[in-house]
Amino acid sequence: MGIEVKKITKKFGSFTALDNVCLKIADGELVALLGPSGSGKTTLLRIIAGLEEFDPAAGTDILFQNRSVIGNKVGERRVGFVFQHYALFRHMRVFDNIAFGLRVRRGKDRLPANEITKRVMELIRLIQLDGLEYRYPDQLSGGQRQRVALARALAIEPKFLLLDEPFGALDAKVRQNLRRWLRRLHDSIKLTSVFVTHDQEEALELADRVVVMNRGKIEQEGTPNEVFHHPKNKFVIEFLGNVNLFHGRMDSGDSSSDSAGQGTHIPYFVRPHEIDLYRENPKAGGIQAVVRRVQLAGAIAKIELEDTGGKDVFVEMSHEKYAVHHFKPGESVFIVPQKKVVFEFAEDYNI
Ligand code: ATP
Repeated sequence: MGIEVKKITKKFGSFTALDNVCLKIADGELVALLGPSGSGKTTLLRIIAGLEEFDPAAGTDILFQNRSVIGNKVGERRVGFVFQHYALFRHMRVFDNIAFGLRVRRGKDRLPANEITKRVMELIRLIQLDGLEYRYPDQLSGGQRQRVALARALAIEPKFLLLDEPFGALDAKVRQNLRRWLRRLHDSIKLTSVFVTHDQEEALELADRVVVMNRGKIEQEGTPNEVFHHPKNKFVIEFLGNVNLFHGRMDSGDSSSDSAGQGTHIPYFVRPHEIDLYRENPKAGGIQAVVRRVQLAGAIAKIELEDTGGKDVFVEMSHEKYAVHHFKPGESVFIVPQKKVVFEFAEDYNI
């Protein structure tokens, strides 16, 4: 096992930031801690890094490659960090920023100067900033600075890389490029990485496994496919993208996540791309609604509707499918959910 977190609780005064959290991260995995602001992601990452204490209790432990690291100092954990606000040293050039972690080493771990130069230049090539090594941070773009921060973290040859919203401050295009670049980097140098994000798209696109957090607890963990297609509860389905909530009968033919609601009048969730729209009410009966807005810029057509109860409904379909019907704002249509998701527990219906 790469990293194992056992029964970690952390209180700030009377506020519980982490509540008995257990987590296993396999060697070589890239794991996303995903959750809304204040859900405890950063606190968990800092505890893994050794930057934050946790509340002592029976059975708590943090293991790196099956060995407890409790009591080990940050420097002894062979962890590289990249934090959003952990800025580069402004008065140091790119080269010196990256070399920093190697130059502060003392004793037998200290490398000779020519070895340090060699390693730093390799990293500069890896982050594709050849030729910019003598620039100062404020002569770089945001994306270039983040890559330097990554190189600085990697200079000490960590086994573990911990990233807290590493691309948070960057614009969408740069974020996307850096995400792909990070994924390739992680694979090529065989790291075990954990990154914090509140962006579900980033987590689903980048991670091998997604850990969905809420109020100091893990709601669900699994591959991006598992958490997206088999959400365990209302929180997870709502957090992982747009979803519609309806109330109605579940029929035996409905493909729901369980059979809790069959034949009864209950709430269910439907993703926007799992809805069909018709002009005529189909035999099985649809939900009446009016088209409010159609957005065609992008890979899919997005249609916003309002049902007769005044509730918003979001539908997505391919442009090909949209081209068949050309639904227009103001039109009256019928909504037919294709895949309904129902949850078993009463609190999931507490809407
Ligand atoms: P964000 O996405 O906003 O960074 P997060 O999920 O990373 O959120 P944390 O930073 O782990 O959340 O914080 C979890 C909770 O603990 C928050 O409610 C926060 O206010 C609280 N908290 C964090 N650090 C402290 C502190 N030093 N003292 C008191 N409360 C704190």
